[in-house]
Amino acid sequence: TKFSDLSLDPKVLKAIEETGYETPTPIQAGAIPPALEGKDVLGIAQTGTGKTASFTLPMITLLGRGRARARMPRSLVLAPTRELAAQVAENFDVYAKHTRLTKALLIGGVSFGEQDKLIDKGVDVLIATPGRLLDHFERGKLLLTGVQVMVVDEADRMLDMGFIPDIERIFQLTPFTRQTLFFSATMPPEIERLTNTFLHAPVKIEV
Ligand code: AMP
Repeated sequence: TKFSDLSLDPKVLKAIEETGYETPTPIQAGAIPPALEGKDVLGIAQTGTGKTASFTLPMITLLGRGRARARMPRSLVLAPTRELAAQVAENFDVYAKHTRLTKALLIGGVSFGEQDKLIDKGVDVLIATPGRLLDHFERGKLLLTGVQVMVVDEADRMLDMGFIPDIERIFQLTPFTRQTLFFSATMPPEIERLTNTFLHAPVKIEV
């Protein structure tokens, strides 16, 4: 497979080319086509396999030219730690550099003020840790009813950190019609149950 065979937005392809990637990794070749068809994806992959691009590239393509609305992000990425969320945000900036998509990074240790301002203006993509996202929601600053694409990254680490109830709550705040791209390195029973509850006929890719 070549990136140019994957039906990605030409602006995304240009960014990938500039980044120097030559061929998609196995998780990318497996996850990107069903994601672009609007299907839910269950990716079983470790860090280092290129999984961040396997959800970020289709997400950018799916969001296309739509416009962000105040307080209603169109896409949500959940990561277990501040560091991981920040890494996803850095990747997003690189892959989305030729688009006009906007993002906000919601992590602890940063004042609410700056994050509120971005959300108020409207962002296409919200990249967050679960606790911080719910803090914003409870302060009445954020609606998740406009989320079209939701990503859960490193679900098994979320489990280790006790975030499963938060993730369930967040799933319930998003529309039933959302598309979900869900990644975990392993599939313990609690994660299996979570995917059975919230993913709709997911395409499973294991690398
Ligand atoms: P990740 O598993 O998402 O943390 O990615 C691991 C590393 O692989 C990152 O440094 C990426 O920039 C890099 N990477 C991702 N996709 C590709 C690719 N198709 N070709 C070469 N490097 C890649």
